[in-house]
Amino acid sequence: MKRRIAILGSTGSIGTQALEVVDQLPDLLQVEVLAAYSNADLLIQQAKKYKPNMVVIVREDLCDKVKSALWDEDIKVFAGEQSLVDVAAMDCVDMVLSAIVGVAGLRPAYHAIECGKPLALANKETLVVAGSLMTATAAAKGVNIYPVDSEHSAIFQCLAGEFHNPIEKLIITASGGPFRGKDSAFLKTVTREDALHHPNWNMGPKITIDSATLMNKGLEIIEASWLFNVPIDKIEVVVHPQSIIHSLVQFADGAVKAQLGLPDMKLPIQYALTYPARQANHFPRFSFADYPQLTFEQPDYETFPCITLACEAFRQGGNMPCVLNAANEVAVHAFLQGKIGFTDIPKHIEKCMSAIPFSKPATVDEFLHVDAEVRKVKCVNN
Ligand code: NAD
Ligand code: MG
Repeated sequence: MKRRIAILGSTGSIGTQALEVVDQLPDLLQVEVLAAYSNADLLIQQAKKYKPNMVVIVREDLCDKVKSALWDEDIKVFAGEQSLVDVAAMDCVDMVLSAIVGVAGLRPAYHAIECGKPLALANKETLVVAGSLMTATAAAKGVNIYPVDSEHSAIFQCLAGEFHNPIEKLIITASGGPFRGKDSAFLKTVTREDALHHPNWNMGPKITIDSATLMNKGLEIIEASWLFNVPIDKIEVVVHPQSIIHSLVQFADGAVKAQLGLPDMKLPIQYALTYPARQANHFPRFSFADYPQLTFEQPDYETFPCITLACEAFRQGGNMPCVLNAANEVAVHAFLQGKIGFTDIPKHIEKCMSAIPFSKPATVDEFLHVDAEVRKVKCVNN
């Protein structure tokens, strides 16, 4: 039996790599749903190749274009945000891959779980914003959330066969991003193009900027704490510029297990989609000959304050991780549009965390209400 998957965010970096995984495993995986925000041309091209049951284009003004391009295919075309939520719950879907960027992924991912669908989760923002709600709902419905993020997939792989053994700590590796080793004065001068130039990974623009500010590691600490039920004081970050060791687990007896591989998201995507099986593929292999040195250093928490901000938001709990995430999304967007400088990103996040009062959202609507409030805080260039 093929596993029938819905790929939400099929036109992005993770989405397109997920389709490369499907190309390798045509007897095991079947694309049932493809969904994208606005890249109608790529969505149409993907639909013609993978012949899903349904496609969703979120931007309603692009619906006619997609419909007319697919008129002679046996594919249903839907538009709008609600359709993303509806398709994730359909009977013909066995598993949902959320590869949407940002808080926009929260409602469809939550609904998928509520409808009992296992979730392969790339969209870390969903767990950052509403980790308590997501994990409690998954537990109540008896469905699993499979990590796609490479660090979390590495930890998940290290934990295979160890689920009853006590964990002493999780060690998350970080490449350090394009500005590793630089000081605050340098960061004031960096441009959008400098920040978009990641040394090891080719990713969507939002996560690439998060990797440059190190907010990505902050978000990943929160994500790991929810996924593996480990408190954040037992989660460490180590900078490993080669991005070969994807993360590590230290057990109660002192043993440390690591997962290694090339910096290539296709492996973690495949593992989430085919879990618990490991399937043969033709993706490039790691060789020690190409990496004679694997090196490690401590993160520079002062120059890159975003990790500390994320940990602080998580310690406060309630709406604060949602505030952190929304403020970060707004600031990254403003930076990408040239409206604020690189070092204004953490400043805007701090400003929002002090401006928005503490609350305890409990439903998706309540979290999205907090998100909307944060988006009203003006982002200033100072
Ligand atoms: P991307 O920008 O390349 O793609 C985003 C996808 O989401 C696109 O298909 C787009 O159509 C869709 N989308 C955007 N806004 C939407 C909205 N409002 N509603 C519905 N769909 C929307 O992003 P990406 O790099 O593929 O990242 C996706 C997620 O995976 C992010 O949460 C990111 O943190 C996470 N992630 C990415 C990588 C990577 O290597 N790219 C690695 C680890 C985790
Ligand atoms: Mg990651």
